[in-house]
Amino acid sequence: MSDLSTLPIFPGTLDAAGQPATLGVMGGGQLGRMFVHAAQRLGYFTAVLDPDPDSPAGRVSHHHIQTGYSDAAGLAQLAGLCAAVTTEFENVPASALKTLAATRPVAPGAAAVAIAQDRIQEKSHFTASAGVAGVTCAPYAILETPAQLQAVPADLLPGILKTARMGYDGKGQARVQNAAELAAAWADLKQAPCVLEKRLPLKAECSVIVARGWDGQIVSFPPQCNVHVDGILAVTEVYEGNMPLALAARAQAATESIANHIGYVGVLCVEFFVIDDGSAQGGLIVNEMAPRPHNSGHYTLDACDVSQFDLQVHAMAGLPLPAPRQHSPAIMLNLLGDVWFDAQGHSRTPDWAAVLALPGAHLHLYGKTDARPGRKMGHLTLTGADVARVKAVARQAAQILGLPGFEGAE
Ligand code: ADP
Ligand code: MG
Repeated sequence: MSDLSTLPIFPGTLDAAGQPATLGVMGGGQLGRMFVHAAQRLGYFTAVLDPDPDSPAGRVSHHHIQTGYSDAAGLAQLAGLCAAVTTEFENVPASALKTLAATRPVAPGAAAVAIAQDRIQEKSHFTASAGVAGVTCAPYAILETPAQLQAVPADLLPGILKTARMGYDGKGQARVQNAAELAAAWADLKQAPCVLEKRLPLKAECSVIVARGWDGQIVSFPPQCNVHVDGILAVTEVYEGNMPLALAARAQAATESIANHIGYVGVLCVEFFVIDDGSAQGGLIVNEMAPRPHNSGHYTLDACDVSQFDLQVHAMAGLPLPAPRQHSPAIMLNLLGDVWFDAQGHSRTPDWAAVLALPGAHLHLYGKTDARPGRKMGHLTLTGADVARVKAVARQAAQILGLPGFEGAE
């Protein structure tokens, strides 16, 4: 349990060394970079712990501790520098967060991150909170032993086999049609602990981001509609009418319950499926949660008066949590490394001049020098006065950059 006696940490407060209060983040990816930007805008200094000397967040932070996530000296240095610590990816060892929490407020805490790191624990949390959340997860079976493989109910097939740990962006997953394919796929994954999920008929996917404070106050963003291509988020669309209002309200309430149920502190994203269950609106199923800001919330930087990264700063530092207001309809297009290659696989420079000339286009590049297919290099958010115009410009942007996943259908 974190020592909370030092909260709130107001921006502009000087530490014992006469420096502005420093906020720390475990992990130096793009989420850490956007956290650092938000913290610095408020006047905090920042510290990033990430072993990669070229990490996107390390490059823009006041301090960059280049050690492994469990390195005792690195963690001691981070705790020494920082008034509070957060995390930007869920695979940071929970034990490291526990070590930091012995001397500093850490949000989210080790227990919450441990749940999100492990699909088996995550599913039992969803099942436990289903009563209040009103939403269940996909039917599933746990696969840890050969006996469990033999006992898999036939009605879970066709299914998706997912490693319990370390999966992301569709990695560590296999689609299986039948028992033979399941056995082969599990052997391919070296019989690592997995969950097998029934493959559901998806009508759509959405996610909800909430921020919850140390005192239990909670604020949320409206649900985002997400399109994945090859298991990676490609497009997020957020505006009134992007999904049926009743479903949106249920997803938001479920996310708040899931956060409340574990006394979560920080920014939490919960992903949902909208499935074809014969009803007009479709049914809502909870998929997974991320104990941090989320790719589907990047639009908040440009389309809301408070971004998910601002709220991450507020939550960890014990500042008030203002309810965010979206002031513009938004479409976010992810920019993967593929954009840096033409159809023949030759590297190219994307036509930034054309993109930057589009009205309401907000380009974010993460400072990664090595573009590889499938690697998240940046994103482009389109905002505008009305949905029709935002869609029209997003269509142009997708065409200029050759992006998949956005038809902009009315
Ligand atoms: P990741 O950690 O890689 O994001 P997810 O569990 O969210 O893993 O799966 C990635 C994508 O695969 C989902 O966004 C969805 O498009 C598809 N998917 C995952 N599980 C199912 C399922 N049970 N039925 C149908 N599609 C699924
Ligand atoms: Mg996912």
